[in-house]
Amino acid sequence: IGATPVTALAESAGLAINNGIAVDSRLRTSDKHIFAAGDCCSFPMALYGGRRVRLEAWRNAQEQGALAARNMLGAELEHTAVPWFWSDQYDFTLQIAGLPEGAASVVRRDLGGGAFILFHLAADGQLLSASGIGPGNAVARNIRLAEMLIARQARPEPSELTSSDVKLKKLLAA
Ligand SMILES: Cc1cc2nc3c(=O)[nH]c(=O)nc-3n(C[C@H](O)[C@H](O)[C@H](O)COP(=O)(O)OP(=O)(O)OC[C@H]3O[C@@H](n4cnc5c(N)ncnc54)[C@H](O)[C@@H]3O)c2cc1C
Repeated sequence: IGATPVTALAESAGLAINNGIAVDSRLRTSDKHIFAAGDCCSFPMALYGGRRVRLEAWRNAQEQGALAARNMLGAELEHTAVPWFWSDQYDFTLQIAGLPEGAASVVRRDLGGGAFILFHLAADGQLLSASGIGPGNAVARNIRLAEMLIARQARPEPSELTSSDVKLKKLLAA
């Protein structure tokens, strides 16, 4: 239990290690016949300028496991999914889409009933991440929409993100 990748087997096989087992955007290690997926591997994220990251969240492990299997069968697909994290904390659910590293500003949207979302924006206005918390599934729909905005590398106006009068769905359509 913990967050340190176990890389001894990969190291003894001579694979490149860089904050976990280093893979390319198709989850192939430095040996083209060996793939890695999930918490143990670091990979370049095109969405964030090719920055190498290692994620510790179950949805990433699930998506990468499936993608690695398809690429072993010759699909040659790039990993492009927006990082997504979820956790229940007593009566509250926390959901995070994207990665906030490198953000220049943060704005807040209140959803009512104690639920809110923080949006992290890069200096050029690109939406990097959305972190929401609220009772039950209060933030789920908005985080799903934010995830789609992040995938499109959208640059929404901060004032539109903070105003609950402006639907995120409308920003997506724009
Ligand atoms: C306390 C805790 C709370 C968490 N809470 C959340 C959460 O709320 N939300 C969320 O999204 N994620 C959460 N996570 C993270 C989530 O559990 C992981 O992202 C996910 O389990 C990663 O899956 P994986 O298959 O990549 O790795 P793992 O689940 O770690 O599986 C790797 C397996 O490989 C085995 N193994 C390692 N080396 C060898 C070897 N040489 N030979 C054979 N087997 C080997 C290990 O024993 C292990 O069974 C949490 C993790 C922890 C520890």
